[in-house]
Amino acid sequence: MQPLMILELDTPVQYIKGVGPSRAEMFRSAGIQSVEDLLSWIPIRYEDRESCLPISSLRDGDKCVVRGKISASGRRFTRRKGFSLYEAIISDGKASISIKFFNQPYLSGILKEGRNAVFYGEVSWDQYSRALTMLNPEIEMLNQGNDLPVHTDRIVPVYRRIGKISGRMIRQIIFRLLSSSPEIPENLPEKILLKYKFPGLYDAYWGIHFPSLPPGTDRKDFLKQLNNCETPARKRMIYGEFFLFQAGLKELRIKNLLGSCRRDIRITAQLRERIRSILPFRPTPAQKKALREIVQDIIAPRRMNRLLQGDVGSGKTIVALQAMLVLMENGYQAAFMAPTELLAEQQFISFSALLQGTPYKMGFLTGSTGPASRKQLLASLASGKTQLVVGTHSLIQEKVVFKALGLVVIDEQHRFGVMQRSILAGKGSAPDIMVMTATPIPRSLAMTLYGDLDVSLIDQLPPGRKPVKTVVKTEASREEVYALVGARLELKQQVFVVCPLVEESAEMDLTAATEMFQRLQSVFPSARVGLLHGRMSADEKTRVMVDFRDGLIQVLVTTTVIEVGIDVPAAAIIIIEHAERFGLSQLHQLRGRVGRGEIPGLCILMVVRAATREAVERLRVMCRSNDGFVIAEKDLEIRGPGDYLGVRQSGAPDFHFGSLVKHFSLLAAARQDVSELFDNGEISQEYRDRLNTIYQKKWGGKAGFSSSG
Ligand code: ADP
Ligand code: MG
Repeated sequence: MQPLMILELDTPVQYIKGVGPSRAEMFRSAGIQSVEDLLSWIPIRYEDRESCLPISSLRDGDKCVVRGKISASGRRFTRRKGFSLYEAIISDGKASISIKFFNQPYLSGILKEGRNAVFYGEVSWDQYSRALTMLNPEIEMLNQGNDLPVHTDRIVPVYRRIGKISGRMIRQIIFRLLSSSPEIPENLPEKILLKYKFPGLYDAYWGIHFPSLPPGTDRKDFLKQLNNCETPARKRMIYGEFFLFQAGLKELRIKNLLGSCRRDIRITAQLRERIRSILPFRPTPAQKKALREIVQDIIAPRRMNRLLQGDVGSGKTIVALQAMLVLMENGYQAAFMAPTELLAEQQFISFSALLQGTPYKMGFLTGSTGPASRKQLLASLASGKTQLVVGTHSLIQEKVVFKALGLVVIDEQHRFGVMQRSILAGKGSAPDIMVMTATPIPRSLAMTLYGDLDVSLIDQLPPGRKPVKTVVKTEASREEVYALVGARLELKQQVFVVCPLVEESAEMDLTAATEMFQRLQSVFPSARVGLLHGRMSADEKTRVMVDFRDGLIQVLVTTTVIEVGIDVPAAAIIIIEHAERFGLSQLHQLRGRVGRGEIPGLCILMVVRAATREAVERLRVMCRSNDGFVIAEKDLEIRGPGDYLGVRQSGAPDFHFGSLVKHFSLLAAARQDVSELFDNGEISQEYRDRLNTIYQKKWGGKAGFSSSG
C-alpha cells in the first residue's frame, strides 16, 4: 500500500501511477497534461452495473452483476475451427453458474480456481448444457474478498478511449488516482459550498467518476441525473469553473479601476440643455438608459470600461456623442475611433452637423491626412484647442498627444484588437473607455468575452423602423430574383450582392465575385455595376463605396469586405450568395446594410441546391426574426462558441465541464456570487492571489481577456 498523498491538480500526467512514458505521450496528444486534465476527462455516460444478484435468483435475460469464487475453470473443445471456448464455474456459496468466453485464450491465466471475481453481463439460457449461463461478460478479478471492484458492481463510468488507452484502462487509472489520495485542496469558498450544498472538490471528482447512489434516491432517477449532467457533483464542477473564470475577470476589472481618474465632472443645467439641443429626435428609452449608465461611470471617481451593445441601427452613435459632450463641456477632450476611413469620415460629417452652433472644435485624422493638416491637428490636440477628434487607428500612433483626454469611444469593437484598445486608453490621464459593437453577442458570451467590461444595452430600435424582409431562394428562382431586382433598379433603388468568403483561398473569392460582377453586367445592361473586394487598395475601396453611396453605382458586387455601418439610404436589396456558408450573426450584420432609409429593406438568401435541409432550416431563423440577439443566441446554439462570429479571433474560453449554451444560469450565478464576495470584502488576499494564479494558468493566455489598460 502506498502512503496517501494530497493530490495536486497540476502534477504532470506522467507522475500518475499506471501512466508510463508512452501513455503519458498519448494523454498529452489528447491535451491531457496534468492530473486536473485527466480528472476533466468526463465519462461519456454511466452504466449501472450494480445490481448484484444472488446466483440462485438469476433468470434468463437479466443484465446483472454476479460475484463469487471460481470453483472450476478450463478450456472447452469445440468442433469449429479457429474457435475457442473457455468456461468458468462461479459459486456464491449457495448456487453456481457457468460463465463462457469465446476466443479469449489468455483468460486461462486469469480465471484461476479459488479466486474471487465479479462479472457483469447478460444471463441467457444455454441450449446445450440446459442451464443458465453468462456469455462474454465484463470481468473483474478481486485480489482479496474485500477489494473494491472498479469496473463492475457499481455505477460505472464509460470513457472515450485515448489513442491506445482503452476506456477501461482510463477507468482504472482514474480510480487509482483518486484512491491514492485523501483529499484535493478545495478551490471554492466554504460559503459557496454551503449556499448551494455543493460537495467539496475531492468528493465532486469522485461523484463525476465513480458516483454512488445517494441514500433515499431512486436508482433510475439517479442514472438519469447522471447522464443528463445534473448531479450535485457535476453542477459543482460546472459552477466552479465559471466561478474561477469570473473571479479572474473581476481581478482584471479591479485592476482597470485602479488606474482611476479624479476628474472634476459636473452635470450642470447648461450641459443638459446642450445635450438636448443637439438631438435631432427624441431618444428612445433604451438610449436614455444607456446614457444614464455611461454618465454615472463618467462621474464616478473610477475609470469607465464599458461596452455599449446595440443592434445595427439602434442608435449607438448619438449616445456616444452625448457622452463625449459631457466631457467636452467639462473641459476635457474626446476621441472617436472608427475601423475604416470611410466610416470615420461619415461619423465626422454627421458629428459636425450635429455640433453646429456649439463652440467645439473638431478634428479628423486618418492615414491619408496630409502632413500639413496633420501637423496642425496634432498641435491643436496637444494644446487642447481641438476637443473632439474622429479618426481611424491613426489615432493610436505615438505622436498623437492630448492635453486632457477624458473619453475614448471605439466603434465596432470587434474590428479592433485588444492591443489597440489599450494603446488608445493609455493616452493622457487614464481616459474613460467606451467600446461599441453592433455584433449582438449572446449574454453568456458577453459575460465571458467582454467580462472585463460593464455592459450597456440598447435593446430597441428607433420608432418607425421597418424590419428587413428576408427570404430564402434556390438557384431555380434566380431568374425570378433578377426580374425583381430589375424592377427595383427602375425605381432608383440600389442593390448589394455579397459573395462568400472561401476561407482557403482569397484567389477563389475574387474569381467568384468577378464572375458575378461580369454576369450581372450582362443581366442589368442599363445599370452601373461595381465590384469591391479585399485585394483592392484602401483608396480604391473608398472610391467604389463613395460611388455607391452617391448613387453612381447601382449594383455593388462585393466579397464580405463591405463596410460595417456605412449608410446608403437608397440601398434596398441585399442578395447574399451561398448564404448557407455564413453564420447567422454575420448574415444579420450584412442585412443591416439595407433598409436604412425610407425604403423597406429586402434580403434574399441564395442557397445552392445541394444545401442540406439543416442549413436551410438554420436560414429560416433569419426569415422569422429581425432581432440580432435572438439570432445570436440561435447561432451560438447551432455552431457552438468556438465558431461564433469574431469569437475565434478573440479566443473563446475553454470550459471542460460547463457549456456557455446549456449552463447559462450557473454562469450568471457564479458571476453574481463573485461580485458579491469581492465587493463585500469576503475574500482574503491570499485566496485572491490563488484565484488569480488559477485564472492566469487556465485562461490568461487568451488575448481576448487581457485588461484593456
Ligand atoms: P448604430 O447603432 O448601428 O450605430 P446609428 O447610431 O448609426 O446606429 O443610428 C442609425 C440611424 O438611426 C441614424 O440615422 C440615426 O440618426 C438614427 N437614430 C438614432 N437614434 C434615433 C432616435 N431615437 N429616433 C430616430 N432616429 C434615430
Ligand atoms: Mg454605428
